[in-house]
Amino acid sequence: MVLSEYRRLEMADVAEPVPGSGEVLVRVAACGICGSDVHGYDGSSGRRIPPLIMGHEAAGTVAAVGEGVTAWAPGDRVTFDSTVSCGQCPFCLRGDINLCDRREVLGVSCGEYRRAGAFAEYVTVPERILYRLPASMPFAEAAMLEAVSVALHAVKMGGVHGGETALVIGAGMIGLLTLQAARVAGCSRVLIADVDATRLRLARSLGADEVLQVSGDDLSRQVLERLPSGADVVLEAVGRDATVSAAIASVVKGGTVVLIGNIAPRVTVPLQVVVSRQLRLQGTAASSGEYPEAIDLVSSGKIQVKPLISAVAPLDEGPRWFERLYAGEPGLMKVALVPHPEAAS
Ligand SMILES: [Zn+2]
Ligand SMILES: [Zn+2]
Repeated sequence: MVLSEYRRLEMADVAEPVPGSGEVLVRVAACGICGSDVHGYDGSSGRRIPPLIMGHEAAGTVAAVGEGVTAWAPGDRVTFDSTVSCGQCPFCLRGDINLCDRREVLGVSCGEYRRAGAFAEYVTVPERILYRLPASMPFAEAAMLEAVSVALHAVKMGGVHGGETALVIGAGMIGLLTLQAARVAGCSRVLIADVDATRLRLARSLGADEVLQVSGDDLSRQVLERLPSGADVVLEAVGRDATVSAAIASVVKGGTVVLIGNIAPRVTVPLQVVVSRQLRLQGTAASSGEYPEAIDLVSSGKIQVKPLISAVAPLDEGPRWFERLYAGEPGLMKVALVPHPEAAS
């Protein structure tokens, strides 16, 4: 499925990719549509310059291996990191693969590089970003592991050790996974805020202690009614002026605001509040080594992804699903596209 020009996706025959040295050819079984694909689709993010095969939240089976690959064999069920890290730069060497100097994201073209993604029958990836899947995990759920890893990384960046109170702002896909990740990390009480009642119902069923249907100044007011000193950690999964302000107003003195969402490129920060209350504003990017943990948590059911999957549809219906997501159809969360529907499981 090729983005041939902005807002135009078409099904096209392209040459089957050939795995180079150290690479693996993956037969894609499912690939989720990410919010960043939908934002990039009309050109507004500048990170999906056509022509491009998008898609970076995928799972499938190994179809062939390139030269030097010995750890993987055809038929292995796998998922892979959305980030292709180089494995050699100072950041990779110290384990911060999400900060790699030569970082590329699958299914992205941004002027500096163009890397084919997984809205296709096949994709090639370096073997070092592959992870083995348990036989019991359905591919559509495995396609959610990328987002689960993002949530786990965000909570880790919040310095959660257990016993903290947490507030999640935004009950979209990442917010709902972050809520679950905060629970798993041992937060004693997790609140979540959004304006959408349906999403909050889902949040409640996924383990939120309290849901707040509120926005703007009322948000921090309601949080402070429940947690008079503020939340120990606030996980901001929206990324707009109002929600970042609410996050800063809801955190305890000396606490941490983890900035996950970034819909707006800039926001205003109340500098004196941040300085005088000694707040930590902590950005978080993608994930860095959380895949194995994500696989364990999803297979054990400690993190639930199934309730977040709105539809599993054939890849050739992808263009229509992109339009529906782009139109902001209410109630739609993750849509997973399946290139080989006859073999899907
Ligand atoms: Zn994504
Ligand atoms: Zn690197």
